[in-house]
Amino acid sequence: MGPHTMEAICQKLHDKAYKVTPQRQVILKAFLDHAQEHLSAEEVYNIVKESDPEIGLATVYRTLDLLADLEILEKMNFDDGRSRYEFAGEEEHHHHHLICLECGKVMEFEDDLLESLEAMVAKKTGFSIVDHQVKFYGFCPQCGRSRAAN
Ligand SMILES: [Zn+2]
Ligand SMILES: [Zn+2]
Ligand SMILES: [Zn+2]
Repeated sequence: MGPHTMEAICQKLHDKAYKVTPQRQVILKAFLDHAQEHLSAEEVYNIVKESDPEIGLATVYRTLDLLADLEILEKMNFDDGRSRYEFAGEEEHHHHHLICLECGKVMEFEDDLLESLEAMVAKKTGFSIVDHQVKFYGFCPQCGRSRAAN
């Protein structure tokens, strides 16, 4: 996941000549406090307004865009009508995501067996593959259980 600390991120903002405003800090803290989640702008807004009731949704959107431009956050689209964000990974291979069609939960999946598939596709097509993205859609354990119970 890389060293995602407030200190390291503030340093990065500072290096790029951006101020670490209290609002930026409170938004970053929301991500640090919910490191395993893939927060949407609305979810970030709901978290931050508890500690900073003055903050507006527009500020949240602007800040998320900025943090994505600076490659501190990565913007993701899981085809559920909203963008979600997580800390940008420093590792070469991005993890993959499992998206629950019932509750919208996003889980992560680290390893995959796609290197051999990549090699096969590359061989068949002559394409030099440098990356891939995989999204799995289905039902999380909780939703799967309640569906089975009905
Ligand atoms: Zn679910
Ligand atoms: Zn993720
Ligand atoms: Zn992979």
